[in-house]
Amino acid sequence: MIDAITQKVANKERITRQEATWLWHNADDETLAELASRVRARYHKPDRATYLLMRIINYTNICVAKCDYCSFYRLPRAKDGYVRSNEWIYSKIDELIEVGGDLFGFNGGFNPALKIEYYEDLFGSIRQKYGETIEFYAMTVVELLYVARLSKLSTAEAVDRLKKAGVRWITGGGAEILDDEFRKRHSPLKYTVQEYMDTQKAILDAGLKTTGTMVIGFDETLEERLNHLDTVRNFQDVEISNGGPGLFSFLPWTYKPYNNELGGKEISSQEYLRHLALCRIYLDNIVHVRASVLTQNQNALVGLKYGADDFDIPWEDEVTQMAGAVIEKDVAQILGYAKAAGFDAQYRPVAAASARRCKAAQT
Ligand code: SF4
Repeated sequence: MIDAITQKVANKERITRQEATWLWHNADDETLAELASRVRARYHKPDRATYLLMRIINYTNICVAKCDYCSFYRLPRAKDGYVRSNEWIYSKIDELIEVGGDLFGFNGGFNPALKIEYYEDLFGSIRQKYGETIEFYAMTVVELLYVARLSKLSTAEAVDRLKKAGVRWITGGGAEILDDEFRKRHSPLKYTVQEYMDTQKAILDAGLKTTGTMVIGFDETLEERLNHLDTVRNFQDVEISNGGPGLFSFLPWTYKPYNNELGGKEISSQEYLRHLALCRIYLDNIVHVRASVLTQNQNALVGLKYGADDFDIPWEDEVTQMAGAVIEKDVAQILGYAKAAGFDAQYRPVAAASARRCKAAQT
């Protein structure tokens, strides 16, 4: 089997689900890394990588979805629930600009008090204040889905209103595992796979950019992981065949099991790397596969050898930090890890008129 798979990868042919299953159970780490590096080389120079310096801004922790793996949410009327003021959010943006970042990701919860007007006001004011010098991932796919419902809009109408307010990106966050059985077990109030993918399509149809994500390490089976990868690969095929850009990137990261209802244990760094490689090999129609410094720290940079070509250096993310993530802010050290893995990592500005001067990277 390994000879047939190796030949396929060399010929730039797609591997099947059965072959992916075989690889997962039988291939050693070096083989997975080698195959993933070959697929990576179709899109990127072998010794180059790119990175971003970004901050997640958690604008509200109030959420009614009640996912059992979540350490972050508070129900409405909880004493420690919050909605941050615009001024507080601007101060977070200014802090990151000061250290050389230009990208912000907004992530909150399903807050029944925040309808579309709240987001139009917030994102419109940010675009007005900062123009094109920064960029932001306005919300995740699942937040958009919820806000559209709450505001009695179709997702297409909600996307259109956000676009008019200055939004350019919505990320694929909140996907975890795209499998309806998994969703029923852990997150029955959040979305069905069909709803999630329909929302991704509405984002792309409106001319906005979006990404694919995945979280592993709950109790999901290999079949459920492969269902996720099949859903993403098929979606990307259709988008590309229709002449669209499709998903900009795919980011798999790992579940942190602390301070929540589900609990459990973290998967090993080896399992993360093997999964990353499998994603790179399987998702042959996505240009960027990203490593997760946020949940894997130094190990994420080893991931550049397992098919990843791009990574964030995160400055803050309350959601994963409350679940046990430890953020490392020494940019030079993180770039050193990439160097040690054999990669020269260059900053990838996302903002159209980024005035980025990465002071942190220069120290
Ligand atoms: S993971 Fe997101 S949607 Fe689920 S409870 Fe937490 S904040 Fe809400």
